[in-house]
Amino acid sequence: MAQQSTETDWVSRFADEVIAEAERRAPGKAASGASAPVIVCASGLSPSGPIHLGNLREVMTPHLVADEIRRRGHEVRHLISWDDYDRYRKVPAGVEGVDESWAEHIGKPLTSVPAPAGSAYPNWAEHFKAAMTEALAELGVEYDGISQTAQYTSGVYRDQVLHAMKHRADIDAILAQYRTKKAPAKKSQKPVDEAELEAAEGSGAASEDDGSGGSAGYFPYKPYCGQCEKDLTTVTSYDDETTELTYTCTACGFGETVRLSEFHRGKLVWKVDWPMRWAYEGVVFEPSGVDHSSPGSSFVVGGQIVREIFDGAQPIGPMYAFVGISGMAKMSSSRGGVPTPGDALQIMEAPLLRWLYARRKPNQSFKIAFDQEIQRLYDEWDKLEAKVADGSALPADAAAHSRAVRTAAGELPRTPRPLPYRTLASVADITAGHDEQTLRILGELDPANPVTSLDETRPRLDKAEHWINTQVPADQRTIVRDEPDAELLASLDDQGRESLRLLLDGLDEHWSLDGLTTLVYGVPKVQAGLAPDAKPTPELKVAQRAFFALLYHLLVGRDTGPRLPTLLLAVGADRVRKLLGG
Ligand SMILES: [Zn+2]
Repeated sequence: MAQQSTETDWVSRFADEVIAEAERRAPGKAASGASAPVIVCASGLSPSGPIHLGNLREVMTPHLVADEIRRRGHEVRHLISWDDYDRYRKVPAGVEGVDESWAEHIGKPLTSVPAPAGSAYPNWAEHFKAAMTEALAELGVEYDGISQTAQYTSGVYRDQVLHAMKHRADIDAILAQYRTKKAPAKKSQKPVDEAELEAAEGSGAASEDDGSGGSAGYFPYKPYCGQCEKDLTTVTSYDDETTELTYTCTACGFGETVRLSEFHRGKLVWKVDWPMRWAYEGVVFEPSGVDHSSPGSSFVVGGQIVREIFDGAQPIGPMYAFVGISGMAKMSSSRGGVPTPGDALQIMEAPLLRWLYARRKPNQSFKIAFDQEIQRLYDEWDKLEAKVADGSALPADAAAHSRAVRTAAGELPRTPRPLPYRTLASVADITAGHDEQTLRILGELDPANPVTSLDETRPRLDKAEHWINTQVPADQRTIVRDEPDAELLASLDDQGRESLRLLLDGLDEHWSLDGLTTLVYGVPKVQAGLAPDAKPTPELKVAQRAFFALLYHLLVGRDTGPRLPTLLLAVGADRVRKLLGG
């Protein structure tokens, strides 16, 4: 049974490629039922600190492709390799429960570093993994998590380690071809500024990652010290026959001779470790950050090492572009100033976040909005939902929507009654999260079909509320006046007074979101002697803007605010009358 290409979006095209590659590797099996091999897609995450929201692309890209392959009926494994046996490089700034004393652990495996004070988790890696695991569950990402600490220390890679040591001269020769070309060392995506900072600091990651050797020659393996647990060790001799390895530690002076065939406290250097795992797991698809497109990148070097040393194949590995964050407020950055996927999921629903990744090709960069832009994004999403519902969405847009709202396993939870995010945000802004008041206002938005319980509007309501509370600066919050602005009311001319009277006279009759919209736009029309459905002229627009500004001043003491119909509903008819001098 050959797979037809649907060719609707980038996910489908990669799924086509990955299935074809899996078939090429195991001819006739990939699409033929029970004996078909499982198709492996992979991601790698380093729990070296709070996992940056930008790194979610490392997971979402293979997730979406794996999910499409699963939808077509193939068996897929999406591996997430937790690179928790990596060395602890530096103490991230501003993480709660962590101070400079953590610097003494630099050089140990991430799983040997104590968790931040007060953590419920046994070590550093587990602590930061937990937050990511929770976010992935909410996002509907199905995966097999693999702890590299567990893999290495249980000896799962013993044969691969011995093989790499045996062929160290060949590995060294391959690496030598690239050594003059400077390249970023690690695969994981980092925020641009951090990557630049590390490059400027000359962090030494590049040399440590390919395992350049000392006077005894090159070794692609680094033991963690038996006394201080750090990786500041130098292999001084190795015997291929007996697998006896001797190392000394430059940090504490400890040294010992071990038998590598039964010693499991160390790891292959990154540039050898990654291709080893491609071969070991049979990875067919694994993307990496765009900083790996350079000639000496670990993806390129790994391609040669996996073929020539491990007799395996390089995965299909698109480079993905950076994902930026717009306008994350300082106040919510309690975890080292790093926006995490968990932070995003507090202000937006999982389908929306999935959609941001699904609709852009991996090589396109984009920003995740924590600022006002999130309201426009939600408007766009709601329009797409409407188009999908009436069948007018373009195929690629419909595909992205489908990937956002469901996986092969089923539908993601949705808000039963998805009111506009900007309306919910305005209501939350004005009511300061007061439930009774919120229900009163939401119930009046559409009197013909009133909201009767806040649960209908959740979780979107909660996300909008959280956004208002954590991301909108105090000076942009809406504070409804307690007392009328007597001075402003007294200064109005006849036309100003007349506009307020027209509005107040129409309030009862127009008390709904649609009704009030008609009313606030209609008052200036009536004053200009135009029909209520008249096309706006430039003069009329000027009059409308002036009228709106007057209302904002009288209601909230500013030039602008939430959309007026929402604001009027939120303030309530009695208080509107009082503040407008009625
Ligand atoms: Zn030591």
